[in-house]
Amino acid sequence: MRIQELKRRLHEAGAGPLHEHRVLRLWSHALPRNSGRRLPESFFPSSLLAALPAIEADLAALAHIRSVHPGADGSERLLVALADGQTVESVLLPRGGLCVSSQVGCAVGCQFCMTGQGGLLRQVGSAEIVAQVALARQRRPVRKVVFMGMGEPAHNLDNVIEAIELLGTAGDIGHKNLVFSTVGDPRAFERLQQGRVKPALALSLHTTRAELRRRLLPRAPNLTPEELVAEAERYARATGYPIQYQWTLLEGINDGEDEIEGIVRLLSGKYCVLNMIPFNSIDGTDFHRPSFERCKQIARTLLDRRILTKLRYSAGQDVDGGCGQLRARAAQTPEMRVPIRLAAERA
Ligand code: SF4
Repeated sequence: MRIQELKRRLHEAGAGPLHEHRVLRLWSHALPRNSGRRLPESFFPSSLLAALPAIEADLAALAHIRSVHPGADGSERLLVALADGQTVESVLLPRGGLCVSSQVGCAVGCQFCMTGQGGLLRQVGSAEIVAQVALARQRRPVRKVVFMGMGEPAHNLDNVIEAIELLGTAGDIGHKNLVFSTVGDPRAFERLQQGRVKPALALSLHTTRAELRRRLLPRAPNLTPEELVAEAERYARATGYPIQYQWTLLEGINDGEDEIEGIVRLLSGKYCVLNMIPFNSIDGTDFHRPSFERCKQIARTLLDRRILTKLRYSAGQDVDGGCGQLRARAAQTPEMRVPIRLAAERA
């Protein structure tokens, strides 16, 4: 379901802008209808009150949590089943973050990613994206949403932008705490700047060598690293948020001195932070993670060369941590629904 369609139904049921905002707020916060100071009966028109049970039932049916996988680092990986039986992954991160999926599968085909191995199955609708946030909020507060789960958000722009606009308004997520993560698509750079809610941008760089990038990310738009950084820098200056460059560290592939020199050449003086993420092994690939010492050495060298660098480990690595691994494993196991507690029970 698209959020547009939900808004149309609310409008047809007699909702004005304030009524619509309240319904969207309750849904995206996973709150019951009677929360807040004013009772629904005194706030909503009777035609809307009559229509709400069916609308709420449709929203509740969008997605449910199929399984929960706690990580040793405080994260929780959620396998979320959509109404048609497809599954996506969301990850509750420590300190109020949530990573959501924007597609079932992905067409970019990154060589080191499990999701990329199966191709694109379907788009995740804007309401299904918000449903992932609502499900996560039934478990913990969520103050930051990153679009770094399954899928390339730039390949599902209309749905992702609709979800971002709702989350940045009725969903009460600060705009710089909405992070659109992309391999770099000129359409996304352009559209995001025009939006009412402008998210922060994470850009998957992974190498400074154009030819290697074409091999690692075979179906990413054919922009050179220089062109990508130039586009991203324009976005950073326009929004006032630094770009978060993502770099999956692969032993013997992109962890050499030549790449360090390339990064210094490309990113010196840019408004950005570089997140280096040591590769998390997946079955069926020949890639390996560099040693911990090598990862630390790279980060230290870049910091000495005045590139703001953070060494990060992807959340919940001890529980099939790579994007797409839970889903792949679940395809081989029978369904088990996780009972969802009502918001009222948690209060
Ligand atoms: S890393 Fe991201 S863009 Fe690349 S295949 Fe995986 S989900 Fe798609």
